[in-house]
Amino acid sequence: MLLCVSAVLALVVGGLPGHPEALVAVLNASGLLGLGLALVVRCRGQLGAVGLHVLLVGVSLGASAAALAASASHASTAFMVWYCAVVAVAVAASSWSGAVAHVALAVVSAALLHLERGTGSPTAVLVVGCALVLTVVVTGRAVHSAGDAGVDGLTRLPTRRAFEQRLSSALEKAQAQANAGEQAPLVSVLLLDLDHFEVVNRTHGRDGGDDALRTAAGQLRAALPSDAACARLEGDRFAVLLVRRDDAAVPTLARDLQRAIAPLQASVGAAHAEAEQDYTTLLRRAEVALHAAKEAGRDCLRTADSYDEQLVRGLRRALLNPSIQVALQPLVDPATERVLGVEALARWHDPARGWVPPAVFIPVAEKNGLIPDLGQVVLERACRDALQLVHHLGRPLTLTVNASGAELVRPQYVDDVAAVLHRTQWPARDLVVEVTESSLDAASQDTLATVEQLKQLGVRVAIDDFGTGYSAFSQLDNIPAEFLKLDTSFTATTTTSTRRQAMLAALVTLCGELGIQVIAEGVETAEQAELVARFGCDLAQGYHYARPMLVADLIAELARRSAPGHPVHPAPALQDHALGS
Ligand code: C2E
Ligand code: MG
Ligand code: MG
Repeated sequence: MLLCVSAVLALVVGGLPGHPEALVAVLNASGLLGLGLALVVRCRGQLGAVGLHVLLVGVSLGASAAALAASASHASTAFMVWYCAVVAVAVAASSWSGAVAHVALAVVSAALLHLERGTGSPTAVLVVGCALVLTVVVTGRAVHSAGDAGVDGLTRLPTRRAFEQRLSSALEKAQAQANAGEQAPLVSVLLLDLDHFEVVNRTHGRDGGDDALRTAAGQLRAALPSDAACARLEGDRFAVLLVRRDDAAVPTLARDLQRAIAPLQASVGAAHAEAEQDYTTLLRRAEVALHAAKEAGRDCLRTADSYDEQLVRGLRRALLNPSIQVALQPLVDPATERVLGVEALARWHDPARGWVPPAVFIPVAEKNGLIPDLGQVVLERACRDALQLVHHLGRPLTLTVNASGAELVRPQYVDDVAAVLHRTQWPARDLVVEVTESSLDAASQDTLATVEQLKQLGVRVAIDDFGTGYSAFSQLDNIPAEFLKLDTSFTATTTTSTRRQAMLAALVTLCGELGIQVIAEGVETAEQAELVARFGCDLAQGYHYARPMLVADLIAELARRSAPGHPVHPAPALQDHALGS
């Protein structure tokens, strides 16, 4: 609008004889300002390709007419600025074919104008030509370097490279916060792909397609919350980065963005960063989710939420509450079945999934850096619950807790254990940390150092799951453990294989020589119980004696058993099947 007014004014005023040069300069300046505004509006997607072409042709012709009508001969050169501006806008904001057409029109108009005004000397034509070429080169270079600087030439949104850099630093920041023990924000990526965009290109041509992309980019930008960032990755694909406390805002945001670009439609794929995830993996997962959205019929949102990811988020929440519980399973003297200790086993009831078995959530916690927090929560809870049991029984008990390899390699692990013992007043000598052979193998030096420090603290160590594939007699020498726990699978075969019986007998003798107590795990039948007692195992654990139970249930169960006239073994109805594995 401003441009048209400027052009008309230029025509009218320039045509009046005797007008000062200053006025021509003012008109030129306002015209250029108008062109600048047109460029901005175009980049925001509010001016279509056809509108832009009409405007630029109008300006070129208007400038020629104004220059022709102007009385002063210098006007033809002064109005050259308009041609240069038209060329610059065409190169910056229109397709290459459009830009070439506008350059050609400007060159022809300029040449005709100079010939008509008698200023068409070779030097003047050369100067005009050079000015136009220079404009094309400078504008082209500026557009190119804007791309280098991370700005997409078509939509003025950040480019893929700029987005990846931003995403990468958001992930690094979140990871650093997590490492520092702070609650890290959740980094989410949404990929938007315009549905059936090829139809737009086919129907409206490339320019029409470019227009639609500019418009969509402008609308997306307007619909974004202030803490989100948007980029154009390529073609009709856009990406949004969102850093929030949780994922609750993602579906709403996806819907808002889809509404903003209507009547165009978009499929959306979202992915949330898992711990220590790099940006390429996150983007790849968002791609997979986007593909799923397309497969599901387009114009919808799909989230790259693997079962693991949902678990991780649920587990994070559970650790914050904390709603992780501990089941205690008695360790008994096989000869008398008297309870001498308990093993603490982590239990997690997720509101959405119900009871999740440790075999599922422990590996997920290990993979996602949650195991140190989980270990601490379990240890503290175990000490407090076991204290209740000790008070009930009126005698000391041994408490065993499981530790993953990822916990044992942490330099502060022993300090954390000491802090829990101090807080809960559980005696160090009554605590046994169970470590699996596999975790000891994985990081032997660091882990062995931790084991040594635990012993200095007075805490004892058990080798868990002996006989599951990593068993090596050399471990008995390398690891200064006080207990060896025979795995359930080993115990199960002792009643069916005489060779296993021989091995059990030899193992019990060997451990006796080394001062290591043998605990038989997974004792399920009376026959197994009789056998482990006969072969001299120091302790036994298994469903035959008791299932893992929450402390209140265990206290009630032990009280029931000690009451006169009651059977020693629990009736199935009283067993906590949900808590046992
Ligand atoms: P584990 O340390 O070897 O624990 C013994 C597992 O055997 C427990 O499974 C227990 O419920 C089960 N069990 C007990 N008696 C019997 C029996 O008679 N027969 C059979 N078939 N199984 C029996 P749960 O509680 O599912 O734990 C599985 C594993 O998860 C544990 O094996 C341990 O490696 C891990 N885990 C549990 N809690 C924690 C924890 O707080 N931290 C770590 N790092 N790992 C844990
Ligand atoms: Mg164990
Ligand atoms: Mg075990």
